[in-house]
Amino acid sequence: MRLEVSAATDVGRWRQRNEDAYWAAPLDPAAWVLAVADGMGGYQAGDVASRVALDTLARSLPSCLVRHRAPEDCLRDAIAQANERILELGRGRGELAGMGTTLTAALVLRRHLWVGHVGDSRAYLIRDGVIRQLTEDHSVVGELLRAGSIDERGAMSHPQRHLLTRGLGLRPELSVDVTDEALLPGDVVAVATDGLTSLVSSAEVMEHVRLAQAERPEAFSQVAPRLVALANERGGYDNITVLIARIPRDETGEAGLGAEAGP
Ligand code: MN
Repeated sequence: MRLEVSAATDVGRWRQRNEDAYWAAPLDPAAWVLAVADGMGGYQAGDVASRVALDTLARSLPSCLVRHRAPEDCLRDAIAQANERILELGRGRGELAGMGTTLTAALVLRRHLWVGHVGDSRAYLIRDGVIRQLTEDHSVVGELLRAGSIDERGAMSHPQRHLLTRGLGLRPELSVDVTDEALLPGDVVAVATDGLTSLVSSAEVMEHVRLAQAERPEAFSQVAPRLVALANERGGYDNITVLIARIPRDETGEAGLGAEAGP
């Protein structure tokens, strides 16, 4: 499947290391994966956790889909395996003890989207000038937001905004959220870590996508780097990662999708 993807990750302006990681790749024959992981832990443990999460996803997901299992089950299995792997590595070595990561994985398969999610990274869907968050933030602040105790502005500046209530590597039993949506031509899917979402609002993400789409076609590839630059202008307190993908408008129905290669 042909999908236009803009991707960017950056260490930000304060951190020594970039513990965020992403995986954006076409899968055979008509799928795409857009996944981000935001690692945490001392020394290099955060990098290890986010990388292990994405490596496990990359190993598990394609083979599961090829076996024609339900995408939802494949995402759940892959994320559960990543959790086990991170816990296992953390048990063996002192410097990796207590490492963890978020994982938000969007799978576009033909004209359908599945999102597997744990932690406070986010997936958004932009359609017809409206942006909708498809994931719930598994954080203390996310719970306050859902309870109506604070609004989006309050959440963005809350001192406890980094405290996760769910993540990979925290405990053996893990509840994974999986949501799915039918996709329409022209839909835009965005996946980002909190280094972006705590400094750039969802309305601003949508506005940047709109502006890029109004420019020449090649401008779409600049959306993710521009959003990263905006987060850095506003302080860049954390690592910043964002992936933006556009579902093509110029295809009719399912015909031909399977025969197309990725970029
Ligand atoms: Mn972060």
